[in-house]
Amino acid sequence: MKSLETLEVWFVTGSQDLYGEQTLQQVATNAKAIAESLHANQQIPVAVIWKPTVKSPEEIFAICQEANTAKNCIGIVAWMHTFSPAKMWIGGLKILQKPLLHFHTQFNRDIPWDAIDMDFMNLNQSAHGDREFGFIMSRMRLNRKVVVGHWQDEETIAKIGTWTRAAAGWNDWQGAKFVRFGDNMRQVAVTDGDKVEAEIKFGYSVNTYGIGDLVEVINKVTEAEIDALVAIYASSYNLMPSLQKGGAQHASLREAAKIEIGMEAFLVAGNFKGFTDTFEDLHGMAQLPGIASQRLMAKGYGFGGEGDWKTAALVRAMKVMGTGLQGGNSFMEDYTYHFNPSNRMVLGAHMLEICESIADAKPSCEIHPLGIGGKADPVRLVFNSAPGPALNASIVDMGNRFRLLVNEVLAVAPVHALPKLPVARVLWKPYPNMHTGCAAWIYAGGAHHTCYSQNLTTEHLEDFAAMAGIEFSLIGKETTLHQFKNELKWSDVYYHINKQ
Ligand code: MN
Repeated sequence: MKSLETLEVWFVTGSQDLYGEQTLQQVATNAKAIAESLHANQQIPVAVIWKPTVKSPEEIFAICQEANTAKNCIGIVAWMHTFSPAKMWIGGLKILQKPLLHFHTQFNRDIPWDAIDMDFMNLNQSAHGDREFGFIMSRMRLNRKVVVGHWQDEETIAKIGTWTRAAAGWNDWQGAKFVRFGDNMRQVAVTDGDKVEAEIKFGYSVNTYGIGDLVEVINKVTEAEIDALVAIYASSYNLMPSLQKGGAQHASLREAAKIEIGMEAFLVAGNFKGFTDTFEDLHGMAQLPGIASQRLMAKGYGFGGEGDWKTAALVRAMKVMGTGLQGGNSFMEDYTYHFNPSNRMVLGAHMLEICESIADAKPSCEIHPLGIGGKADPVRLVFNSAPGPALNASIVDMGNRFRLLVNEVLAVAPVHALPKLPVARVLWKPYPNMHTGCAAWIYAGGAHHTCYSQNLTTEHLEDFAAMAGIEFSLIGKETTLHQFKNELKWSDVYYHINKQ
């Protein structure tokens, strides 16, 4: 995964000419100090770049235009140190295509009780200057994040950091290409959807390639390339005896390596950021890609099983958002339940493809039969996942809009060994509890496929949904079914009226 350091957010301060040169000089000096301080803070993974104060409609329009076309600029942080009459902002905000964070701060943390005079009041008036700016954004019905607090307060800075991560994910989607190897699984509803609308709304494209195109690349993989990857498998994982050199199924491991190398070559050549496959469409392939999908996900590619392109794209965006953070993000499926009243929980897994970024220890590399698909036994990585707070996210195509649905969960350490379960897995307890959490998910039409995240929070995804201009539904600690069902109904009305 590429580091986020090359990305920028621009720190733009609004003011006006009527304050005179001296005050404007001070505004610029203070704004620069804030931008530099945010830039140096480890909680913000991207560069924060100070820009000269904007004081007129022309200057505001120009900076928004520049931000739109600047490749590395992923958003604007706007702050009104003084009063900046907001009609000046209309033209710029109308054309701004990058996410905006409204930072409601003040240079001075404390009121200087003994020294405060009208000069101080004149300089430090974001308390009302930012209200004027907030009004015009609300009046224009613009999505943005408002962060309130002193610029040296770590909690406040963390919120800005979260937003920059969401903006990095959003930026990554713009112009991104996802490939589907084959169509989605026949007759399945939730993994299908409107790819045209997704491209309009989200900025990424999804296109299908026949399996034959992929098989052609796989068949060009050399024995030397396979030798090298098999050696990496042997040093990175605990290979089960039959897969080891000389073992009865070593040829299957070599076949899995060949598939991985071919798939990666295909993705690199096409500049794809993620992919889907399906067990129903593997013509010419020996086995369903298991370890290949797992390892490509760990390298940062998005993945969705059974042709699920929405989840593949979401996995990719969430991996970008989580860059450099402890813990991982993986394709996931709610698989089976433990309904014991004393300890209700969900077992999440997939047929094969769980990303090793969420593994709690060195995975074991195994081969077992797969009940469906009619192909050779696939090689896969098997592991448990660490306990702790996590979440599941799903993008749902509701026909007239997309909904980003999040369920906060608590992952738990496995209480029993699972000697016969041949796939990677996670155990979790949904918030607010199993019954309410699962019922709410089903009322919201959430998919069985999700992106499971150990390192992102609801706030990252709420910011991300705002950037995309889509519905955000949260199932968390405070959720009650009655309220949640109403929210879904009210949202239906809102999105019926508000056609963006
Ligand atoms: Mn599935």
